[in-house]
Amino acid sequence: MSNTGYKYELQKGSKHILCPKCHHKTFKPYVRTGTNVIVDSKLFGRCERIQSCRYHRYPDTNDNWTPPPFVYEPPKPTDYVPMGLVEATFKNFNRNPFFLYLRKIFNLDTAYELQSKYLFGTAKGGGTIFWQLDEEKKVRTGKVMYYNKDTGKRLKDRASWYVHRKIKEDFELKQVLFGEHLVTNDKPVYLAESEKTAIIMSGFYPEVTWIASGGANMLNSYRLNRLPRLDYVFADNGQFKLWERKSGAVFPDRQMDVSVDRAVNEGILKSGDDILDLELIKRGLV
Ligand SMILES: [Zn+2]
Repeated sequence: MSNTGYKYELQKGSKHILCPKCHHKTFKPYVRTGTNVIVDSKLFGRCERIQSCRYHRYPDTNDNWTPPPFVYEPPKPTDYVPMGLVEATFKNFNRNPFFLYLRKIFNLDTAYELQSKYLFGTAKGGGTIFWQLDEEKKVRTGKVMYYNKDTGKRLKDRASWYVHRKIKEDFELKQVLFGEHLVTNDKPVYLAESEKTAIIMSGFYPEVTWIASGGANMLNSYRLNRLPRLDYVFADNGQFKLWERKSGAVFPDRQMDVSVDRAVNEGILKSGDDILDLELIKRGLV
């Protein structure tokens, strides 16, 4: 460690105390350099909430040292997946198990129609890439998942992974809801958890725009606030309360589907099932 020559330094370690300005526990006090002696924990230190609070005060001293000016670091610009790379995956659908499953429950035309709508691609090794496009049709990332072509179920031994990690190490990822590029103000927007569910439900109910969060914990206000409307929310079994709270914070008038939880209670669905599982049963497709 180098000696900075300064009389005071911010306390080392991960501990934070209450900030005198914003009262969050995000404050690092100044100590005498090389010691752990706090100068004044209610006055001298720096708040880590550099964008919202900005409190920073170096211990007042009689020498001529002045604290370095506060430098505002703007958020890094969002990175996108190059469109050429995305389009290069629109091939080999006869080897794509998810596409083959779509062909099985619909027909070849509908399978291609759904592909050109949601723009999923084929990855090496039997994977399906669900590209995440924003409203400007820029690609935020792609999620690769593996399915059984006959049952349409996920392969339990193959984990999903995100494509942006292979593009560059410091890729600035800002995720949006899957299907955001399809959302318009003049069509009802229905939200589910899985990409597969959104795509297949859209095959059954094309008059509605189906979007997906890509995970139970993937709903947040950034992603929801980007939508012009949200009409119906279909939480997976077990996620109703969480999704009711998260979606209601942005769209208090949206409807919450209760049919999935009800069907689980009645023994029609299994724990953790979703609206697609129920729809497939209703249509005699399982
Ligand atoms: Zn603060």
